[in-house]
Amino acid sequence: MLLGPTYVDVLRVSGAAANLRLNLGLSDDESFPVIDVLEFDIQRIYAGFVLIIRADEQLGEETLAFAKTAPPQITVCNEIYCRAALGNSFARYVLAHELGHICLSHNKEREHVLRWGTISNNLEWEADEFASEILMPTRAIEGMTMLGIASRFKVSPGFARQRVSVIKKRMKRWRASANMRLKEPFWANSHVDLALRGPQYRGLVHALEQLKKCLTPLPNKA
Ligand SMILES: [Zn+2]
Repeated sequence: MLLGPTYVDVLRVSGAAANLRLNLGLSDDESFPVIDVLEFDIQRIYAGFVLIIRADEQLGEETLAFAKTAPPQITVCNEIYCRAALGNSFARYVLAHELGHICLSHNKEREHVLRWGTISNNLEWEADEFASEILMPTRAIEGMTMLGIASRFKVSPGFARQRVSVIKKRMKRWRASANMRLKEPFWANSHVDLALRGPQYRGLVHALEQLKKCLTPLPNKA
Protein backbone atom coordinates (compact mmCIF):
# COMPACT_ATOMS: atom_id res chain seq x y z
CA MET A 1 0.00 0.00 0.00
CA LEU A 2 2.19 2.76 -1.30
CA LEU A 3 -0.24 5.56 -0.52
CA GLY A 4 -1.22 4.09 2.81
CA PRO A 5 -4.51 2.44 3.72
CA THR A 6 -7.85 4.21 3.34
CA TYR A 7 -10.21 4.36 6.28
CA VAL A 8 -12.25 1.59 4.68
CA ASP A 9 -9.20 -0.71 4.68
CA VAL A 10 -8.52 0.10 8.31
CA LEU A 11 -12.17 -0.19 9.27
CA ARG A 12 -12.46 -3.74 7.99
CA VAL A 13 -9.48 -4.81 10.07
CA SER A 14 -10.23 -2.83 13.22
CA GLY A 15 -13.84 -4.02 13.02
CA ALA A 16 -12.66 -7.64 13.09
CA ALA A 17 -10.35 -6.91 16.03
CA ALA A 18 -13.10 -5.12 17.96
CA ASN A 19 -15.47 -7.99 17.20
CA LEU A 20 -13.06 -10.52 18.64
CA ARG A 21 -12.57 -8.47 21.82
CA LEU A 22 -16.35 -8.11 22.23
CA ASN A 23 -16.93 -11.84 21.63
CA LEU A 24 -14.28 -12.70 24.22
CA GLY A 25 -15.73 -10.24 26.73
CA LEU A 26 -12.55 -8.15 26.77
CA SER A 27 -12.79 -4.38 27.13
CA ASP A 28 -10.59 -2.02 25.08
CA ASP A 29 -8.51 -1.28 28.19
CA GLU A 30 -7.36 -4.84 28.88
CA SER A 31 -4.16 -6.35 27.56
CA PHE A 32 -4.88 -9.14 25.09
CA PRO A 33 -4.14 -12.55 26.68
CA VAL A 34 -3.06 -14.15 23.43
CA ILE A 35 -1.96 -17.52 24.86
CA ASP A 36 -5.14 -17.96 26.94
CA VAL A 37 -7.21 -17.01 23.92
CA LEU A 38 -5.47 -19.49 21.60
CA GLU A 39 -5.38 -22.30 24.16
CA PHE A 40 -8.93 -21.97 25.47
CA ASP A 41 -11.30 -19.15 24.56
CA ILE A 42 -11.00 -19.21 20.78
CA GLN A 43 -12.83 -22.56 20.69
CA ARG A 44 -16.05 -20.75 21.54
CA ILE A 45 -15.73 -18.68 18.38
CA TYR A 46 -13.96 -21.01 15.96
CA ALA A 47 -15.04 -24.54 16.86
CA GLY A 48 -12.32 -27.04 16.03
CA PHE A 49 -9.51 -24.48 16.14
CA VAL A 50 -6.14 -26.13 16.75
CA LEU A 51 -2.89 -24.60 18.02
CA ILE A 52 0.13 -26.69 17.01
CA ILE A 53 3.53 -26.15 18.62
CA ARG A 54 6.49 -27.53 16.68
CA ALA A 55 10.17 -27.83 17.46
CA ASP A 56 11.94 -24.83 15.94
CA GLU A 57 13.86 -26.90 13.37
CA GLN A 58 10.64 -28.55 12.11
CA LEU A 59 9.18 -25.31 10.83
CA GLY A 60 11.72 -24.52 8.15
CA GLU A 61 14.34 -21.87 8.11
CA GLU A 62 13.31 -18.40 9.26
CA THR A 63 9.67 -19.46 9.72
CA LEU A 64 8.10 -18.24 12.94
CA ALA A 65 4.52 -19.40 12.53
CA PHE A 66 1.80 -19.99 9.96
CA ALA A 67 -1.97 -20.05 9.87
CA LYS A 68 -4.64 -21.85 7.88
CA THR A 69 -8.19 -20.62 7.89
CA ALA A 70 -10.07 -23.79 6.85
CA PRO A 71 -10.01 -25.59 9.20
CA PRO A 72 -8.71 -22.82 11.50
CA GLN A 73 -5.24 -23.69 12.69
CA ILE A 74 -2.08 -21.92 13.84
CA THR A 75 1.30 -23.64 13.85
CA VAL A 76 4.03 -21.90 15.82
CA CYS A 77 7.63 -22.74 16.65
CA ASN A 78 8.37 -23.68 20.24
CA GLU A 79 10.54 -20.65 20.92
CA ILE A 80 7.85 -18.16 19.92
CA TYR A 81 5.20 -20.05 21.91
CA CYS A 82 7.33 -20.11 25.06
CA ARG A 83 8.29 -16.47 24.73
CA ALA A 84 4.66 -15.46 24.21
CA ALA A 85 3.67 -17.42 27.31
CA LEU A 86 6.28 -15.41 29.23
CA GLY A 87 4.80 -12.17 27.90
CA ASN A 88 7.39 -11.29 25.24
CA SER A 89 6.07 -8.50 23.03
CA PHE A 90 7.37 -9.75 19.67
CA ALA A 91 6.17 -13.32 20.28
CA ARG A 92 2.71 -12.05 21.28
CA TYR A 93 2.67 -10.01 18.07
CA VAL A 94 3.53 -13.11 15.97
CA LEU A 95 0.59 -15.06 17.39
CA ALA A 96 -1.78 -12.09 17.12
CA HIS A 97 -0.72 -11.70 13.47
CA GLU A 98 -1.59 -15.34 12.71
CA LEU A 99 -4.88 -14.98 14.56
CA GLY A 100 -5.55 -12.02 12.26
CA HIS A 101 -5.43 -14.26 9.17
CA ILE A 102 -8.12 -16.43 10.74
CA CYS A 103 -10.37 -13.60 11.99
CA LEU A 104 -10.14 -11.88 8.61
CA SER A 105 -10.99 -15.14 6.78
CA HIS A 106 -7.97 -14.87 4.54
CA ASN A 107 -7.53 -17.09 1.50
CA LYS A 108 -8.55 -20.63 2.43
CA GLU A 109 -6.38 -22.37 -0.15
CA ARG A 110 -3.00 -21.49 1.26
CA GLU A 111 -0.94 -21.25 4.39
CA HIS A 112 -0.06 -17.79 5.66
CA VAL A 113 3.54 -18.07 6.66
CA LEU A 114 5.31 -15.48 8.79
CA ARG A 115 9.08 -15.34 8.35
CA TRP A 116 11.59 -12.81 9.54
CA GLY A 117 11.21 -9.53 7.68
CA THR A 118 8.48 -10.34 5.18
CA ILE A 119 5.44 -8.09 4.99
CA SER A 120 4.93 -8.28 1.28
CA ASN A 121 1.27 -7.95 0.35
CA ASN A 122 -2.12 -6.68 1.43
CA LEU A 123 -3.10 -9.82 3.32
CA GLU A 124 0.09 -9.56 5.36
CA TRP A 125 -0.55 -5.86 5.91
CA GLU A 126 -4.07 -6.69 7.16
CA ALA A 127 -2.82 -9.38 9.54
CA ASP A 128 -0.22 -6.94 10.87
CA GLU A 129 -2.76 -4.19 11.34
CA PHE A 130 -5.03 -6.68 13.12
CA ALA A 131 -2.19 -7.68 15.45
CA SER A 132 -1.45 -4.05 16.34
CA GLU A 133 -5.13 -3.25 16.88
CA ILE A 134 -5.96 -6.32 18.95
CA LEU A 135 -2.87 -5.75 21.13
CA MET A 136 -3.27 -1.93 21.36
CA PRO A 137 -6.81 -0.77 20.52
CA THR A 138 -6.71 2.68 18.89
CA ARG A 139 -9.57 3.85 21.06
CA ALA A 140 -7.80 2.92 24.29
CA ILE A 141 -4.32 4.30 23.54
CA GLU A 142 -5.49 7.75 22.55
CA GLY A 143 -3.75 10.27 24.79
CA MET A 144 -1.60 7.66 26.58
CA THR A 145 2.17 7.88 26.91
CA MET A 146 4.43 5.35 25.18
CA LEU A 147 5.41 3.77 28.50
CA GLY A 148 1.80 3.78 29.65
CA ILE A 149 0.78 1.86 26.53
CA ALA A 150 3.71 -0.55 26.89
CA SER A 151 2.92 -1.36 30.49
CA ARG A 152 -0.87 -1.62 30.17
CA PHE A 153 -0.91 -3.66 26.97
CA LYS A 154 2.25 -5.75 27.60
CA VAL A 155 4.04 -4.61 24.46
CA SER A 156 7.55 -3.24 24.04
CA PRO A 157 7.95 0.57 24.14
CA GLY A 158 9.29 0.36 20.57
CA PHE A 159 6.14 -1.38 19.35
CA ALA A 160 3.99 1.19 21.20
CA ARG A 161 5.96 4.05 19.64
CA GLN A 162 5.59 2.58 16.16
CA ARG A 163 1.83 2.16 16.64
CA VAL A 164 1.31 5.72 17.86
CA SER A 165 3.38 7.06 14.96
CA VAL A 166 1.39 5.07 12.37
CA ILE A 167 -1.94 6.24 13.82
CA LYS A 168 -0.82 9.88 13.97
CA LYS A 169 0.34 9.92 10.35
CA ARG A 170 -2.81 8.18 9.21
CA MET A 171 -5.12 10.55 11.09
CA LYS A 172 -3.29 13.57 9.72
CA ARG A 173 -3.73 12.32 6.17
CA TRP A 174 -7.38 11.45 6.68
CA ARG A 175 -8.24 14.65 8.50
CA ALA A 176 -7.03 16.65 5.52
CA SER A 177 -10.00 15.32 3.57
CA ALA A 178 -12.37 14.65 6.47
CA ASN A 179 -14.90 17.32 5.59
CA MET A 180 -15.51 15.78 2.21
CA ARG A 181 -15.54 12.23 3.50
CA LEU A 182 -17.97 12.87 6.31
CA LYS A 183 -20.56 13.83 3.69
CA GLU A 184 -20.35 10.49 1.92
CA PRO A 185 -23.50 8.36 2.38
CA PHE A 186 -21.45 5.35 3.53
CA TRP A 187 -19.98 7.34 6.31
CA ALA A 188 -23.17 9.10 7.31
CA ASN A 189 -25.53 6.12 7.59
CA SER A 190 -23.69 2.84 7.58
CA HIS A 191 -23.17 2.49 11.32
CA VAL A 192 -26.91 2.86 11.95
CA ASP A 193 -27.77 0.32 9.24
CA LEU A 194 -25.19 -2.13 10.51
CA ALA A 195 -26.30 -1.81 14.12
CA LEU A 196 -29.83 -2.73 13.11
CA ARG A 197 -28.68 -5.78 11.19
CA GLY A 198 -27.48 -7.76 14.16
CA PRO A 199 -24.91 -8.57 16.79
CA GLN A 200 -22.30 -9.80 14.28
CA TYR A 201 -21.82 -6.17 13.27
CA ARG A 202 -21.09 -4.92 16.79
CA GLY A 203 -17.34 -4.88 16.22
CA LEU A 204 -17.64 -2.98 12.98
CA VAL A 205 -19.98 -0.42 14.55
CA HIS A 206 -17.57 -0.02 17.45
CA ALA A 207 -14.65 0.55 15.07
CA LEU A 208 -16.67 2.90 12.90
CA GLU A 209 -17.64 5.07 15.85
CA GLN A 210 -14.00 5.22 16.87
CA LEU A 211 -12.86 6.24 13.41
CA LYS A 212 -15.64 8.75 13.01
CA LYS A 213 -14.59 10.39 16.27
CA CYS A 214 -10.97 10.49 15.15
CA LEU A 215 -11.88 11.93 11.77
CA THR A 216 -14.04 14.77 13.02
CA PRO A 217 -12.12 17.87 11.96
CA LEU A 218 -10.28 19.58 14.78
CA PRO A 219 -11.76 22.93 15.81
CA ASN A 220 -9.94 25.92 14.36
CA LYS A 221 -7.45 27.44 16.72
CA ALA A 222 -8.48 30.93 17.75
ZN1 LIG B 1 0.92 -13.37 7.82
